[in-house]
Amino acid sequence: MINVTKTFLPPVEEYQAYVRSIFQRSWLTNNGPLLNELEEKLKEYLSVQNLLFLSNGTVAIQIAIKAFELSGEIITTPFSYVATTSSIVWEQCKPIFVDINPFSLNIDYLKIEEAINERTSAILATHVFGNPCNVEKIQRIADKYGLKVIYDAAHCFGTIYKGKSIFEYGNVSTTSFHATKLFHTGEGGAVFTNNPEILRKMSLLRNFGHTSPVSFDGIGINAKNSELHAAMGICVLKYMDEIQEKRKTQWDYYKNKLSNLEVNFIEITEGTDNYNSSYFPIIFKTEKCLLNAVGLFNSKNIFPRRYFYPSLNTVNYVDSQQCPISESISKRILCLPLYHDLSLKEQDMICEILYTNQNELL
Ligand SMILES: *Cc1c(COP(=O)(O)O)cnc(C)c1O
Repeated sequence: MINVTKTFLPPVEEYQAYVRSIFQRSWLTNNGPLLNELEEKLKEYLSVQNLLFLSNGTVAIQIAIKAFELSGEIITTPFSYVATTSSIVWEQCKPIFVDINPFSLNIDYLKIEEAINERTSAILATHVFGNPCNVEKIQRIADKYGLKVIYDAAHCFGTIYKGKSIFEYGNVSTTSFHATKLFHTGEGGAVFTNNPEILRKMSLLRNFGHTSPVSFDGIGINAKNSELHAAMGICVLKYMDEIQEKRKTQWDYYKNKLSNLEVNFIEITEGTDNYNSSYFPIIFKTEKCLLNAVGLFNSKNIFPRRYFYPSLNTVNYVDSQQCPISESISKRILCLPLYHDLSLKEQDMICEILYTNQNELL
């Protein structure tokens, strides 16, 4: 079976060595030594100033919204994983969807201003598939109207934009270290910010608001992560350069091999110094063509995924708003299998199926 992704697992002995040390310390969570070690190693690997390791990427978005005490309306993208939208609603704010650019698949900055009104408090955009948003344009709009900018950078591990980690842009960036993501800790996530006050606030929010065992500063939640998860992260991080290199080759291989296919590819944003090759989406001409391809794949035990479907402006807990580009693309987009040990032979087979599908539909 070939799935859209496969979790990279380090050699079990390497993980076991950390587990043994956790057993010796009997220290499983609450700001443990492995958690601190992982945070330090991630800061160094990503060249970022600050980060807080959290229990997942969804609570990361929720904590970012809470830290700024956002209310009213948040401008967001309809083309992302559902957690981007659900977190806004969960935090009692109203998502206002701005349609996407059909090439980058990110929020179309040209359409943001017309969605702003006196209730708007922030822009929450996703760098979808690890492809940077137009961060300069978005920042300029935010400055003009006094809005906060939060980036859902769940797909962005390793993406470098204009010489800096993409996590360094916006007031806060959030990410996910879920097992299906490029870098993972089993379950996990993080927030990034260069604002010391917001960093302090998010650190309190992560741990019930505790300032000491007997005192609290504001409301908090349990968004901490454990030593076992941190250990997984430390083990996986060692292999990230290797994984990145491999992915790049695989990504380029698909791109070349599929160049004669009647599909569209995403356009990587200009100024991206390192694209992390996190996903390989293709956009079919019609949904029928996509469904046909999925059928053919599944019959051969290959399971690509419809990332991202449905368009988030259509989920049943938001007011209906139209985003024709996102709705159209989400019906026609499919992410091909891409993971560290996918072989060239398997990639050839996948490409072969796509060409066959195209001929069948003629
Ligand atoms: C995976 C993902 C999340 C949620 O992260 P979890 O760690 O699974 O909670 C949020 N946003 C996007 C865009 C994602 O892909």
